[in-house]
Amino acid sequence: MKRHAFTAAAFSGALLGAAMFSAPAVAQERFITIGTGGQTGVYYVVGQSVCRMVNRGSDDHNIRCNAPSTGGSVANVNGMKSGELDMGVVQSDVQYRAYHGEGNFEDDGAWEEMRAVFTMHGEPLTVVARADSGIEHFSDFPDKRVNIGNPGSGQRNTMNVVMDAMGWTEDTFALASQLDAAEQAAALADNNVDAMVYVVGHPNGSIQEATTTVDANIIPVTGPEIDELIEEYPYYTRSVIPGGMYRGNEEDVETFGVAATFVTHAGVDEEIVYEAVKAVFDNFDRYKRLHPAFENLNPEEMISQGLTAPLHDGAARYYREQGWIE
Ligand code: GLU
Repeated sequence: MKRHAFTAAAFSGALLGAAMFSAPAVAQERFITIGTGGQTGVYYVVGQSVCRMVNRGSDDHNIRCNAPSTGGSVANVNGMKSGELDMGVVQSDVQYRAYHGEGNFEDDGAWEEMRAVFTMHGEPLTVVARADSGIEHFSDFPDKRVNIGNPGSGQRNTMNVVMDAMGWTEDTFALASQLDAAEQAAALADNNVDAMVYVVGHPNGSIQEATTTVDANIIPVTGPEIDELIEEYPYYTRSVIPGGMYRGNEEDVETFGVAATFVTHAGVDEEIVYEAVKAVFDNFDRYKRLHPAFENLNPEEMISQGLTAPLHDGAARYYREQGWIE
């Protein structure tokens, strides 16, 4: 205790000294941490890209940004709630459910502190099955070995909804594994699972790894149950994974999907969110070049689609300055 007090006194003395002898005083550095996903996904690149833009301006605003790999959407929501993360990338369906306290978030209740920043790329529910698995359509899943995703991931959250709609439980499958996103392509190649499920933007490293290390097909996710989900929930849309992106998958594949969204919470300082948003949109052409999944992004859609929570004040301030919102 005493030693602590002594150290604190010495420290404040040093600070005082610095303030007296070095002018101008340096403003305090502030740190932001952005939750992403697995390293072979696109969220990791979203977080790294936002940080790269922010950190280019650190000399001016003194904000330093980092974006570690995480378990995905649900882990990011939980990390923001607990204060470990300031911002995060979150699927639009997960944003909706967390904000309203529905589905897997029912026990937690509505998280009204959540704030939207912008929407990113589309994320189709992407099922990849080994060519020798006998899976040709999503409805062939029963009695197969399926990686339904780690509990913190968005795909697991979406799969829970889909499994309910199909009348499936984990017992429906010969194996329901819970591997992280970054582990599933290797599990498919090693024949530990027949199929992997990933809600993710395209092209991405994980699906590329899966389709190049083993003969594997991207599988359609369609049918009456899926039509009903799209009808019932505002955040689900029909979606197509374009043919020709991955080895052995030349045809377009129909599925449904969500959007990746960038969110924060009301407790994060307005200035910080303003600077982060400004860093992205002031350098938008450069930002878009950081991943091919960002190619078709445009600001108008990014600030109007896929968002459930209200805009954070710092984001709204920048969009107002640009004349993008009233
Ligand atoms: N949609 C996935 C999730 O919410 C992550 C996809 C990615 O990392 O690009 O967990």
